[in-house]
Amino acid sequence: MTVKSDEEIELLRENAIIVSKTLAEVAKHIKPGVSTLTLDKIAEDFIRAEGAIPGFKGYRGFPGTLCVSTNEEVVHGIPGNRVLRNGDIVSIDCGCQKDGFYGDSAYTFPVGEVSEEVLNLLRRTKKSLLMAIDVAVAGRRVGDISAVIQEYVEGFGYSVVRELVGHGIGNQLHEKPDVPNYGRRGAGVKMVAGLTICIEPMINMGVKTVVQDADGWTIRTADRMPSAHFELTVAVRKEKADVLSTFRYIEEVLGSSSI
Ligand code: MG
Ligand code: MG
Repeated sequence: MTVKSDEEIELLRENAIIVSKTLAEVAKHIKPGVSTLTLDKIAEDFIRAEGAIPGFKGYRGFPGTLCVSTNEEVVHGIPGNRVLRNGDIVSIDCGCQKDGFYGDSAYTFPVGEVSEEVLNLLRRTKKSLLMAIDVAVAGRRVGDISAVIQEYVEGFGYSVVRELVGHGIGNQLHEKPDVPNYGRRGAGVKMVAGLTICIEPMINMGVKTVVQDADGWTIRTADRMPSAHFELTVAVRKEKADVLSTFRYIEEVLGSSSI
């Protein structure tokens, strides 16, 4: 577990802003009829125009700039010929790398008209992330983040994916510590100022069990019910987390159709 200097945190912030803006650029194009590969190309062009490089492409052999995961796909969907349809939800996870540091952020978008039940899954998953950020302060434990997310979403009958977790971030995409979305208050690593972490609840409407596709990447729910995923990067500080990435650009694009 490494603690970042203020200079390093500013470099992480630059990357976090690039991925935040990339998600907003992708958001402009999310509509029925668009292929997930088209979204991937838009993201890659945008990231390169910002002077960064895609953070996921080539990571352990991943072929895309984005992970694009629809409906019952939880995370790590590979961009391809899949065309978005009215009523889908789509998780877009984006990474970039610039000046030796990484950015990593995700948002789940409704495509066209989505049922209120599924919109609630998105809203509550996003809310659990924002609630977790409130406890990402020096002196608290990683388990406090985990418990806040788990208690909130399980209150709606949802379940928390166990196999995938949030993580530290720096000049590696995935650093220590793990940041699980389930766990006990007061357990786990004590957070210190300058720790930089990605908090990323992956929440299933049905059972917590997930399965991996034969492509070696795509994770989907075992019961094929929908799953939502939101991710932001924070620098732990003394009083209040410094949120490095933001959904503000996405919300500007979506306006009143924002979830
Ligand atoms: Mg991510
Ligand atoms: Mg991540």
